[in-house]
Amino acid sequence: MKALEKIIGIFRRFPGVGPKQAERFAMYVVRASAPEIENLVEALREVKASVKYCGECFNYAEGGLCSVCADSGRDRSSICVVERPQDLAAIEKAKSFSGVYHVLHGAVSPAEGMLPEHIKLQELVDRVKASDGGVKELIIATNPDADGEATAMYVTRLLKPYVPKITRIAYGVPLGGDIDYMDEVTLGYALKGRVKI
Ligand SMILES: [Zn+2]
Repeated sequence: MKALEKIIGIFRRFPGVGPKQAERFAMYVVRASAPEIENLVEALREVKASVKYCGECFNYAEGGLCSVCADSGRDRSSICVVERPQDLAAIEKAKSFSGVYHVLHGAVSPAEGMLPEHIKLQELVDRVKASDGGVKELIIATNPDADGEATAMYVTRLLKPYVPKITRIAYGVPLGGDIDYMDEVTLGYALKGRVKI
C-alpha cells in the first residue's frame, strides 16, 4: 500500500489536518473518478503557476497586483500591517478599512529563530521610504500574542522616523487568538478603536 501511504503522508502535511482526516482525504481520492482527479491535479498546477505575491503589498495575487492594490479607490496614505494573507482577507470582510495593506508573512519570534530578516519587514521600510512622505498612518494588526507584539515593536522602531502616526489595533479581541478566526464585528470594533503607540 505504498501509494496510499504516500498520499496520506502528503495530506498530513496540510495545516490543521490530523491522521484521521488525512486518511479520509486519501479515501476520497481512491474513490474519485479519473476526471475528478484530473481536475484536482490541474487546479493544483494552475494555482501554483498563477498565484504569486502582490508586487506592492505581498498579498496573494494573480498578475502583478492584488485586488486591493489594483483598486484606485483605496487610500494609499494608510497601510495596515498584517502577518498573513488570511488576516488581510478577514479585515477586508469587516469592511472597516479603506486603506491598503502590507503582509509580513510571519512574525518575529527570536525563540523560534524567526528574525526580522525572515519576514517582509525591510520591504515595508523600503515601500514607506519610496512613498516619500505619502504614508501618513501605519496600523499594526499583527496577532495579539507575544510574537505579534514583538513584531509590532520592530515595525514601530523601524518606521517611526518616516510615518507621523503609528497605531496598533485595539484589544477587545481575545488574547492569544488569531486575527483570521475573529468575527467581522469584533474586528471592525478593534480597527475603529485602534490606539497610537
Ligand atoms: Zn497588494
